[in-house]
Amino acid sequence: MSFNEFPFDRRIRAGISSVRYTTPTPIQQQAIPHVLAGRDVLGIAQTGTGKTAAFILPILQHLLAGPRGHVRALIIAPTRELAEQINQVAIALGKDTGVRTISIYGGVSKRPQLAALRRGVEIVVACPGRLLDHMTAGAIDLSHVEVLVLDEADRMCDMGFLPDIRRIIRRLPVERQTLFFAATMPAEIRALADKILRHPATVQIGAIAPVNTVSHALYPISNERKKALLAALLNRTATGRVLIFTRTKYRARSLAPYLKKQGRRVAALHGDMTQNQRQKAITGFRDGRYDVLVATDIAARGIDVTAISHVINYDVPDTVDAYTHRIGRTGRAHHTGEAFTLVTYADTLMIRSIERVLGTPIERRRLDGFDYGESVPEYQFAQPAAAPRRTSKTYRPRGRLRGRAAKATW
Ligand code: AMP
Repeated sequence: MSFNEFPFDRRIRAGISSVRYTTPTPIQQQAIPHVLAGRDVLGIAQTGTGKTAAFILPILQHLLAGPRGHVRALIIAPTRELAEQINQVAIALGKDTGVRTISIYGGVSKRPQLAALRRGVEIVVACPGRLLDHMTAGAIDLSHVEVLVLDEADRMCDMGFLPDIRRIIRRLPVERQTLFFAATMPAEIRALADKILRHPATVQIGAIAPVNTVSHALYPISNERKKALLAALLNRTATGRVLIFTRTKYRARSLAPYLKKQGRRVAALHGDMTQNQRQKAITGFRDGRYDVLVATDIAARGIDVTAISHVINYDVPDTVDAYTHRIGRTGRAHHTGEAFTLVTYADTLMIRSIERVLGTPIERRRLDGFDYGESVPEYQFAQPAAAPRRTSKTYRPRGRLRGRAAKATW
C-alpha cells in the first residue's frame, strides 16, 4: 500500500515526501487508521518499526483543525535521546503544517524551553522529570491536551518513572485520546495500560521476540578472555557499525579506550557524560566518525541509527526485555543485522530465559583460531537440541510473529 491511501491533508503529504517514506511500515498500516479515527491504541512494537510516524502523522492531521497556541498533544518518552528523536520526526513531518513542536528534558537549560512554551506550541515531547518541574512551576498548561502518547512505556517503568507518569496523567483532561507503546508487556505495564486506555485497538508488530531480521549467536568465553575475544571478533567480522553493550558505566568507560588502542574508531556512551557529550557520541556514530559505540543500556535508549550491522553484548543483559531492547538496535527498517553475545558460565540461567522467549536455542559459536586456552569447558560450546520449555511464568504475548517471515517485507 502507499501513504496516499490514508486521508492525509496535502500539507502532511508534503512532510511524508520530504522524508522520502513511500510505503507505510506494518505498524503504520495498522495503527494510523485507528489513531485517525480517534481511538485509543495499545501498540506493542519496538523502536525500529516506524512507530514514531505511526502516531505523529495522525496527530498532525488532528491538530490541523482547532486552536493553535495550546499544548494539545503530549508525548512522553523515557530518555532525552528518544524525546529529541521524536521531536525531530514531528518537525520534519509537520514542516508545512505550521504546528509547533518542542522537546522538554533535563540536563539542558530550562530557559529556551520556557521561552518556547510562552510563544505557544501544540506538541510537547517530554521526559517525565523535567516535565514535572515545569508543571510544578506552573510553566506549562496541560489543560488543553487532547492526545497523550506514552512511548516505550515498559522502559519508563524499568527506569522507575511510573510514579511520575501517574502524577502527570492525573493532571491531564480525562477526555482525551491515549496512545500507549511498549516493546514488552510485563504485568505492571499491562495494569497501567488497562487503567488509562479506553476500549483500545491493539496493534502488535514483532511482539516480544527480538526483530526477526536479526540472527543471533552466543560466544562462550571466560571473564578474563572477554576483551581479547571481542577484539578478535571485531577483526574477523565484516562489521559495519557496531553497538557494544556493557553492564556498567565503568565497564563502558574502560572498554572504549581498549578498543581505541586496537585501532578502532570508538566512542563511549554512558550516564556519566553530559547531554552534550552524549549527543556528540551519537551524532559521530551516525555520521560514520565512529564505527563502534560502547554503551550502557539506559544511555543507548532511543539511538536512531538505522544502519547498525552488529549488536554485541559484551555483558549479558540483566533481563530478557533488556536483551530484546538491545537487539532492537540492529535489524531496523530495511536492514538485517547480527547479534553476538559473549557468555560466561555465570550467564547460563539468563541465556536459558532468553532462549525460552525466542522459542529456539541460540547458536553457540567458537571463533576459529582464537586461543581459548583452558578457559572455557567444552560443554559450553554444545548446542542444545531445543529451547528450554516454557513455564507458567514465561510471558506469552498473544498472536506473536515468532517463527514467521524471516525478513520484514517493507
Ligand atoms: P522508529 O521505529 O519510529 O524509530 O523508526 C525507525 C526508522 O525507520 C527511522 O529511521 C525512520 O526514519 C524509518 N522509517 C519510519 N517509517 C518509515 C517508512 N514508512 N519508510 C521508510 N522508513 C521509515
